[in-house]
Amino acid sequence: MPRPKTVILGGGLSGIAVAQVLAEAGWSPITIIERGVKLGGLAGSFQQGGKFYPLGYHHILHRDRTLLFFLDLIGALPAVRWKAIRMLFEADGALLDLSNPIDFLRFPMSPLDKLRFARLMIRAFTKRDWAEWHDRSAAELVDHWGGPGVRTAIFEPLTRLKFDLPCSDVSAAWMGARLHFREGSAPLGFIPESNWTTVLCDRLTELTSDAKVEILTDSSVQKIHTEGERICAVELADGRTIPGDLFVSTLPTEAYCRMLPTDGTVSNIRYTALVSAICATPQRIDPDFYWLNLTSLDHSACAIFQLSSLNASIGAPGETCINFVTHLGSRDDAFFTRPDDALMEGYARDFETVVGCALEPSWVRIARVPMYSPIFHRGYRNPPVQSATFSNMYFAGNYRTFPSVASTGTALHSGLETGCEILRRYSQRSDILERVASFRLKRMPRE
Ligand SMILES: Cc1cc2nc3c(=O)[nH]c(=O)nc-3n(C[C@H](O)[C@H](O)[C@H](O)COP(=O)(O)OP(=O)(O)OC[C@H]3O[C@@H](n4cnc5c(N)ncnc54)[C@H](O)[C@@H]3O)c2cc1C
Repeated sequence: MPRPKTVILGGGLSGIAVAQVLAEAGWSPITIIERGVKLGGLAGSFQQGGKFYPLGYHHILHRDRTLLFFLDLIGALPAVRWKAIRMLFEADGALLDLSNPIDFLRFPMSPLDKLRFARLMIRAFTKRDWAEWHDRSAAELVDHWGGPGVRTAIFEPLTRLKFDLPCSDVSAAWMGARLHFREGSAPLGFIPESNWTTVLCDRLTELTSDAKVEILTDSSVQKIHTEGERICAVELADGRTIPGDLFVSTLPTEAYCRMLPTDGTVSNIRYTALVSAICATPQRIDPDFYWLNLTSLDHSACAIFQLSSLNASIGAPGETCINFVTHLGSRDDAFFTRPDDALMEGYARDFETVVGCALEPSWVRIARVPMYSPIFHRGYRNPPVQSATFSNMYFAGNYRTFPSVASTGTALHSGLETGCEILRRYSQRSDILERVASFRLKRMPRE
């Protein structure tokens, strides 16, 4: 049976995964159109002094099964090492590690609330299915299992930092799923002597090319052409037109809707924006940490990551590699377009306040991501896999993996789900989702 000519908009991990499933099932031709110079999207990297760095902190979560499956597929899993990291919270001017009993006692919260906080974390760690919390707010969840004191001291600042929203407007299911992933309290993975997202994206690009998928990089989709209730082609910024029978959009939904406002299927999804500055310095940081949450809300950064604390080989020998990250409610926030100098001034001030000495970077790289994460508000629901308006348009991306965390693995998983659903509609099937579900991480070798 002839297969539709398939065009995938966006070459991030979700787009790559769609292409993999369809190519594995014998589909051809398949074209990926990617605006960047390489595939990878948010998991992309940049080169500095002969080394690769992620656009912003990236660690491997031990519960991110689809990511582990893909790392295994590309032969990189044996190289992954796991490390318990130090996550600090800024509280009353001090930097506290909540996994350390003494720091936990010092944290400004009543002893009863501390017990309630521990109960909340244990319940969330052990719960897999969050369906019953889909329509409720993170405030209800935290109040129910923790209490208002726990919410005010810990979770209100965190949802403000992440989405610029109070807990009452954020989805309980998303919050619960995020706690379940144990980010920060379980060891995190990385690949020594390399940047693991570069390894992942480069190897997946090779596999995609080997599967005879056409990859058009440096090619920005500018228009989507329709004929009645079908998409017939996309037009690129350089004037080329790419016709197709079946299309998959993995673009942020706000970008898709700008090009095709008549498709209401994904029109209610809004995105946060993100600014990420990576720099290297010969300075040693004391106290050591990987992840520092700046919860007092009066800093430029929401968090500071010391990338070299997780992966000591990420920078040049003797260098400390630091990542300042700011989440914004939207790209319309004036902070998003702040000039680089002003941005780094603010981050250097944050550094001096928390570390106690002036930042002396040897180089800085700033990334601005206008559409970073879908806002998982209370009542969020995944949109359907197929457009309700244009029957040959399908969707994949992290806006379809709610309530899971938005990660490399969930992006890959959404691509697999969409690819499998397309196959099903063409009376074909793939067992890749079963292979992922049965995948088990057998060892977690420490560094
Ligand atoms: C700072 C930061 C830290 C993160 N930390 C982690 C972590 O620690 N662990 C983890 O697992 N995950 C992490 N993630 C998340 C992970 O990187 C993303 O969830 C995942 O890569 C998203 O993949 P995607 O395919 O859904 O979206 P995207 O990567 O956004 O893919 C969409 C693609 O579409 C392209 N595109 C957009 N517009 C056009 C156009 N008009 N024409 C053509 N192409 C277009 C984009 O260039 C992009 O490549 C982090 C992300 C960031 C930015």
